[in-house]
Amino acid sequence: MIADLAKASSLQDLLAAEAARFTAEHPRSVAMAGQAAQVWRGGAPMHWMNDWASPSPIFAAQGVGAQITDVDGKLYDDFCLGDTPSMFGHGDAAVAAAVSDQVKRGAGFMLPTATSVIVGRLLAERFGLPLWQTATTASDANRAAIRWARAVTGRPVILIFDGCYHGMVEDAFVVLGEGGAIMKPGLLGQVHDLTATTRVIPFNDLAALQAALAPGDVAAVLAEPVMTNCGMILPEPGFHDALRSLTRDAGTLLILDETHTLSSGPGGYVGLHGLEPDMFVVGKAIAGGVPAAVWGVTAELSGRMDEAQARTGPGQSGIGTTLSGNALALAAMRAMLTEVMTAEAYGRMLVGAQRLVAGLQAVIAARGLPWSVAHVGARVELVFADPLPKNAAEMRKALDHDLLAALHLWLINRGVLIAPFHNMMLVSPVTEDPAIDRLVAAVDGFAGEIEG
Ligand code: PMP
Repeated sequence: MIADLAKASSLQDLLAAEAARFTAEHPRSVAMAGQAAQVWRGGAPMHWMNDWASPSPIFAAQGVGAQITDVDGKLYDDFCLGDTPSMFGHGDAAVAAAVSDQVKRGAGFMLPTATSVIVGRLLAERFGLPLWQTATTASDANRAAIRWARAVTGRPVILIFDGCYHGMVEDAFVVLGEGGAIMKPGLLGQVHDLTATTRVIPFNDLAALQAALAPGDVAAVLAEPVMTNCGMILPEPGFHDALRSLTRDAGTLLILDETHTLSSGPGGYVGLHGLEPDMFVVGKAIAGGVPAAVWGVTAELSGRMDEAQARTGPGQSGIGTTLSGNALALAAMRAMLTEVMTAEAYGRMLVGAQRLVAGLQAVIAARGLPWSVAHVGARVELVFADPLPKNAAEMRKALDHDLLAALHLWLINRGVLIAPFHNMMLVSPVTEDPAIDRLVAAVDGFAGEIEG
């Protein structure tokens, strides 16, 4: 069994050999890592940059299309794409032109621009919700959505699914432990008991959903349409219909976070499957890498927000952040929505993703591996389990961290980047077939190596 082999010392030997190879082949990155450690706590400007499987970070030089070069001159096929902001490729000409033009005319004024009117209309047309607000990150947008849900309903509790990730959102840092809900292990500096106001249940568990909503104190369910941050967990048939009707019956708002599932199609997963959230959140790719996010609401909810605001009285409570919705972000969003996130681009990325899925499935079949492949649009996940886990408890058993580290480092050394943490691969409209084939061949080579 691969799972058993993965535990064997041969895997540790493989990791050690690959680490040595990385270090030998990346002298400049290694040297820069040493320099960075003197000025950046933890060795990089943001700690996730250290979460890759390589023994020290790869220092990027530039990205073109779906490839990156590093400071050692190595070329990578990039299936991480900045963990989604560059889902449509690096260095897009339309975004570059819009951003550079706007910076010259002023990055932001704390005033709306004519472009903002156009972007609002584009969002409403594309995603179906009529009224929008901006934030600077998807984390911020989710926090705003939660705050408003509580304000509107007057209820304290947020319901989430075990294994979810919605960004730096305290309310969502609760997981199912052995004895029930606990705060996420490793959560630093938290002085409030988040389990008092966050309820957590397994994904795809309608009985648990019904029970969690029953007390009538849940302001909102916050969910990704497909769970993409704990491996990939697909909704079972009928799950979304039931989620919507149960939340409606309970007077609970439904917030769908499309930050990752935007890879499904031009209108996101919501558009593709005709879902009806009360609130819709999307960040990362929406402005092509310029920090920006948006959240939309139904007309009915907007009316209730007005009422909640009227109850609170005049004056705003500082919920906004200065850079949100600035001219630069809006200009980038306009370029993305009109020139980049086109039906044609989605067509290309979905075809590419199918090629990747088929390639990985062929490797699994040919080698008889106990693995499987999940995908939501252009986002593909290789899972070390078969059949696919249907909740986080099952998925955690499949997340063999040594095996993940070995695969990721193997891929890096063969010129392929996939997002750290698990086996998430994103296919952009500018990802070329040979790059997909190289990824599949590298996974095949890895499987051959660990089979011995
Ligand atoms: N929502 C989802 C589903 C995400 O995966 C993430 C980040 N991985 C976020 C929100 C937060 O995005 P950001 O880090 O840009 O705030």
